[in-house]
Amino acid sequence: MNKTILLGHGSGGLMTSDLIRDVFVKNFSNPMLNVLGDAAVVKMGDALIAFTTDSFVVDPVFFPGGDIGKLAVCGTVNDLCMTGAKPLFLSSGFIMEEGFPLDDLERIVHSMAAEAEKAGVKIITGDTKVVKKGQCDKIFINTAGIGLLEKRFENISKGSLIKPGDRILVNGYLGDHEIAILSARENLSFEEPVLSDVTALNHLVRNLLEAGIEIRFMRDITRGGLATILAEITASASFGVIIDEQLLPIREQVNGLCEVYGFNPLYLANEGKLLLIVTEESADLALKIMQRFSAGVNARSIGSITASNPGKAIMKSVIGGTRIIERLAGEQLPRIC
Ligand code: MG
Repeated sequence: MNKTILLGHGSGGLMTSDLIRDVFVKNFSNPMLNVLGDAAVVKMGDALIAFTTDSFVVDPVFFPGGDIGKLAVCGTVNDLCMTGAKPLFLSSGFIMEEGFPLDDLERIVHSMAAEAEKAGVKIITGDTKVVKKGQCDKIFINTAGIGLLEKRFENISKGSLIKPGDRILVNGYLGDHEIAILSARENLSFEEPVLSDVTALNHLVRNLLEAGIEIRFMRDITRGGLATILAEITASASFGVIIDEQLLPIREQVNGLCEVYGFNPLYLANEGKLLLIVTEESADLALKIMQRFSAGVNARSIGSITASNPGKAIMKSVIGGTRIIERLAGEQLPRIC
């Protein structure tokens, strides 16, 4: 039987990483790619450049708390700043379906410009393609971005600095983005709607770095959720991870909808959340700094890196037991970003 691409290949979970390994890394293999970080880090002359790209196919294009344009800027800015780099320049590529309203395009581009301004990046090049009606769904956007990385931060994105005793922090409620998309798609209405958390995190991260917080590793918690990152960083590592379910910041509405739809909040996508691993000594100050930002008011410590259980990410559950956190095997919801 001829194998074909399945929706699960875009989930950000196990199927995505298998596809990346078996097709992309196999053919493109090089030391910069093979790190598989949020952005590649490359030396050009004396400078270290972070370089990344991301495509956005979210459905619906406008959703509670944001739109595809805001997402396209924030997603790429976040991938750049997770390496410790200062995001500087973005490209924007548009693929649009014939018949797409010009007013909607204007609204999306306006939103991109506003987000870029806030994040302090410039969109300096782009491309426009139009396909016949039905050959793509409304609008897809690709953004690539580059940033400058100071030498002193060069190892953050490698994961090689993580040590037992380090603390694991998150900057707020988990799962809001995916639940906002689900609510929009299913026309669910709540007294207090769940809004997407889409936001650029570069100013928050910059403040942590400038304050001298010893960041061992960070990654934005997007597709595949918190669980996928924890499973990925522990796989074949000499350390383990323990998190406490009771400490996870998850809204009541998010937990409720997860029960109804059979989702696990640990695997839900976010667009303005990061997992931050810092030294024990830096943890309290890191929390205080994050809490000064609207994207970090609900920041908290959720666990730590352990010498025990190497290679495993473990969650202490509310009812007292423990369970191993596995990577997302299939697909929760397609086209969330
Ligand atoms: Mg990322």
